[in-house]
Amino acid sequence: MLKQATLTNGQILDYEEVSNPPRGSMKYTYFAPDKSYVIQFFNNKNDITEELMERLKAIVGKYNPTIAENNGGAVGNDENTAKYFAQKFCWPVSIVKEPEFGIVCPAYPKNFHFGVDASKHLPLRGADKKSKWFTSKNRRYLNINELGNFKTMLEISLDVSTAVRRLHQAGLAHSDLSSNNVLIDPKTGTAVVIDIDSLVVPGIFHPAVAGTRNYIAPEVLETSELELKNPERKLPSVATDLHALAVLIYEYIFFRHPLIGPKIFSTESAEMDDFLAMGKEALFIEHPTDTSNRPEDLAITIKQTGVYLEELFLKAFVDGLHNPSARPTAMEWERALLHTLEQLHKCEYDDCLAKWYILSDPKHPICPFCGVKSFSREVVRLHLMSPIRGQTGQFYETNVINIHNNMPLYKRHVYTNCYKNEKSEDDILATITKLDGRWYLVNKNIPNMYSPKGNKVHHSGAIALDHNTIFMLSKSENGYCAECEIINV
Ligand SMILES: [Zn+2]
Repeated sequence: MLKQATLTNGQILDYEEVSNPPRGSMKYTYFAPDKSYVIQFFNNKNDITEELMERLKAIVGKYNPTIAENNGGAVGNDENTAKYFAQKFCWPVSIVKEPEFGIVCPAYPKNFHFGVDASKHLPLRGADKKSKWFTSKNRRYLNINELGNFKTMLEISLDVSTAVRRLHQAGLAHSDLSSNNVLIDPKTGTAVVIDIDSLVVPGIFHPAVAGTRNYIAPEVLETSELELKNPERKLPSVATDLHALAVLIYEYIFFRHPLIGPKIFSTESAEMDDFLAMGKEALFIEHPTDTSNRPEDLAITIKQTGVYLEELFLKAFVDGLHNPSARPTAMEWERALLHTLEQLHKCEYDDCLAKWYILSDPKHPICPFCGVKSFSREVVRLHLMSPIRGQTGQFYETNVINIHNNMPLYKRHVYTNCYKNEKSEDDILATITKLDGRWYLVNKNIPNMYSPKGNKVHHSGAIALDHNTIFMLSKSENGYCAECEIINV
């Protein structure tokens, strides 16, 4: 039956009231007639306290990164950043006052629902693409087209890190990050963080949830039996989000949990064993010196994800597992994932599920996922060098990127001060092409590119990339100098 909801700003929205609406632990959901938004009401009306209403008002308004500041959203947010973050979060946009207190959320984009042919074995049509479908043993029942590959799982990790970084920048903590609260689409390498209404605003509101099994930080689980008022009790916070974020990234990449290994922590009961394994005695399955929790069949390990991610996994699960302040920040994950994405090498074996891998030894390009050696005889890399301030013509190496055919280059590959984030648009500035056995960098939209001989390269012009070719990607301020390296294998 078509009903109407009145929002706190006076606006009226239609929704379809049905007799058995989808129900979560806190709320139930009705859809808009065109399915573009949902209206959610609370299961237990006693949960609607003054504090909850205040908290939701702040989340919908001044903390909302999906609405521009001049439309009532977060401070400093413009239309572009609002659009950017609207793709990373399913963030409540309004509060309903009639017929009862509730919230309005945008509907999840269509690609986060399974289609008709997602699985032959499971009735998944229309179900949300919760991460666990892709990282648990259930993935074997999914159609191969749904699974994505190593590259798209890194891109998903990057999306989630960006979303969490944005929350933390505003002083918010998600408090319940888990495979249930992040939808992922491995086909497109995108993710969206949902269930934003449990956000914790530190210092103002008390967290209402402890988190979800397997994602709760060890210190929260360890102290969960203490009274809420006890100062020893650890509650969800930015630091506990950072544990959950690291667990999610590890799961996306390896399809296993970083703390679930063969070690028995208690013979008293399965509950006690689990309580210790995820809490006080939690031990990384890939701990470099204590191998007591290491499964026997670890074919792919953190080493194969390259130096940037290996370092952060060790920081998260060795240094920071029982020391929250040592955990990598979401921004550190973003940077490491971006660098890692630039080290990807294409696996040339058609049946390889991973499709991409990290080239740790350029002289031996062998895919660790399928064991097949690269058929082509060369590995091509671009060394990006930043100008040394005050010393004209002097550069130092900043970054090395692995080159593949039809690779796009963005602002971050041309200018030293650009990153992939809400402030840098994703326009393609150049592309790398292989033609008749030779590599070329084709200028699409770089204003001040110069050839090795010092000639200006206009739009659509190209530079041939041979071993030791050195040229200016841009002579504008902060432009990189690039050197090509061709390694014969
Ligand atoms: Zn392979």
